Amino acid sequence: MMIVMKEEATQEQIDSLVTRVESVGAHAHVSEGEVLTVIGAIGDRERIANLDLQGADGVDRVVPITKPYKLASSQFRHGAPTVIEIEGRRIGGGHFSLVAGPCTVESREQLLSTAEAVKQAGASMLRGGAYKPRTSPYSFQGLGGEGLRLLREAKEVTGLPIVTELMDARDVEAVLEVADVIQVGARNMQNYSLLAEIGRSGRAVLIKRGLAATLEELLMAAEYVLKEGNEDVILCERGIRTFETATRFTLDIMAIPVLKQMSHLPVVVDPSHAAGRRDLVLPLSLAAAAAGADGIIVEVHHDPEAAICDGPQAVPADDFGAYVEQVQRVAETVGNELSAL
Ligand code: PEP
Ligand code: MN
Repeated sequence: MMIVMKEEATQEQIDSLVTRVESVGAHAHVSEGEVLTVIGAIGDRERIANLDLQGADGVDRVVPITKPYKLASSQFRHGAPTVIEIEGRRIGGGHFSLVAGPCTVESREQLLSTAEAVKQAGASMLRGGAYKPRTSPYSFQGLGGEGLRLLREAKEVTGLPIVTELMDARDVEAVLEVADVIQVGARNMQNYSLLAEIGRSGRAVLIKRGLAATLEELLMAAEYVLKEGNEDVILCERGIRTFETATRFTLDIMAIPVLKQMSHLPVVVDPSHAAGRRDLVLPLSLAAAAAGADGIIVEVHHDPEAAICDGPQAVPADDFGAYVEQVQRVAETVGNELSAL
């Protein structure tokens, strides 16, 4: 249920509604817009309806949210997009963010040279995994704590905010010391205790769509974070599994406009893991920008041939400037502005 307050509603009236909603065991989520305050009452629908909030002081109207995802639904914000700010870089609502960097942090030299290159080219954030979800337990699993230390150094040197994956709730404190945006990988999209933990941390999160997850399931994952009071959720389409084997996954371009109809949250695209091949990364990125994505998370490496992980899909750092120019042009065509400092 969504309780839309009158423009002139007082703080006392808002507090009193929150108390009433909580008195029936429901969760009250207060969202203060520029003009209106909306209280999302999430819980047993019948018990909330019995409160008869329609006539309460300060209430303009009570609207049911019909979707299973409540706080994530576009209805919750009357269709207004959420804009998330990460250290001055905006994403969503016309602000397009490019997150770039290696698949995994391998060494100081690799990370710092790639970080410097993506910064020069116009990236607004640096990606890089210290904890890697690998299909084989015999593959390189990431540098762990040492990788986080190197990411921190890269941030100090370049000023770029860091996007890095958290795989295990036991590492949350260490990752929080470095990550400006916590990445939840495709394989963990339905790890609900991890999502709730990240929700409680309050840190911005980028949730990748599971390999075989529906868009509704992706939004339910986002709901786990939002329900804890963390509003900074970015959705990521990274390719899904289909019968096609010519490419690593199949990028679901439709996910972009459809998610934007379903939700107010920013939507970014990962063309690298979808394609698995660097020659497809630019065309997929242009398609994503044209379809209205709010950003792209892309793998870039200073020496892809030597990469430990995902080298074949990495854009060489030397080519990244030309890549950014082309993506920026298309993003601008559909009214999105490249976000940088
Ligand atoms: C990654 O971004 O490094 C990654 C492993 O992606 P995904 O979870 O989408 O496979
Ligand atoms: Mn990768």
